[in-house]
Amino acid sequence: MNNAGEMAMDFGLRGKRALVCASSKGLGRGCAEALAGEGVSLVLNARGAEALEATAAEIRDRFGVPVETVAADITTEAGRAEVLAVAGEVDILVTNAGGPPPGTWTDWDRDDFIAALDANMLTPVALIQALVPGMMARGWGRVINITSRAVKAPLAALGLSNSARAGLTGFVAGTARQVAHSGVTINNLLPGSHDTDRIRTMDARNAELKGISIDTQKAQRLATNPVGRDGTPEEFGAACAFLCSQQAAFIVGQNILADGGEVNATI
Ligand code: NAP
Repeated sequence: MNNAGEMAMDFGLRGKRALVCASSKGLGRGCAEALAGEGVSLVLNARGAEALEATAAEIRDRFGVPVETVAADITTEAGRAEVLAVAGEVDILVTNAGGPPPGTWTDWDRDDFIAALDANMLTPVALIQALVPGMMARGWGRVINITSRAVKAPLAALGLSNSARAGLTGFVAGTARQVAHSGVTINNLLPGSHDTDRIRTMDARNAELKGISIDTQKAQRLATNPVGRDGTPEEFGAACAFLCSQQAAFIVGQNILADGGEVNATI
């Protein structure tokens, strides 16, 4: 029973095992906590060991689920190998990594594009290739890729993100429909602005470029959001947990916006 005295929805995930990449902070952490709340045991990853261990300890204390950690850069082949060795057979994969740096379309060279493709397209592709065959063999699996609203509506300063995430979206669209018959769903979850370190860094950069205060920059940004605030990692995590649920088994190859309605589009 929840606080309102109503039956809470059971997502049927108790005892499943999830790898949540880039999850010591922000949206990845939100997904990890929501899955832990559903009784899912976790493998968490981030580069910085200190924040990673602190997050893992808090999740163990709060939710009582087993949590393993791998401090590694998920965007490198060596880092992925370390993570995959610990992850073993997981039922749920949440792909995530830091977003590419902002800039101007004339500035990016081949190396910048390759780095963005490595981090935000080829890393999730490699993780899907490594883990989905096992999920298919076992007849059940869920993959959620944290992408961006930039897939639906480009962000001018984030051309590297617009490009790399569009590539991943195309791969997922084709692949999700080839694996769904085995009980494995692959979907993308598209964050709009959420209250994390990433958005705070972007607000600071834009405030400096415009010569205004960070508070004014944030207020200007929020004025364009129908809900009038940033999303929270908890809300984002709840959407992720639902997409992982038994109830979401018929949602395949979709791109789900969590943005407070900020992308102004009919569909
Ligand atoms: P965040 O608050 O900065 O958190 C990033 C997390 O990822 C941290 O735990 C970080 O830990 C880890 N991480 C970063 N790079 C990594 C790497 N190479 N290998 C392993 N772990 C790594 O960011 P966020 O806001 O949650 O954003 C998550 C993703 O969503 C990003 O790709 C971002 O571009 C995208 N996004 C965010 C928003 C938003 O408003 N927040 C909107 C649209 C899209 P370490 O630094 O210790 O590795």
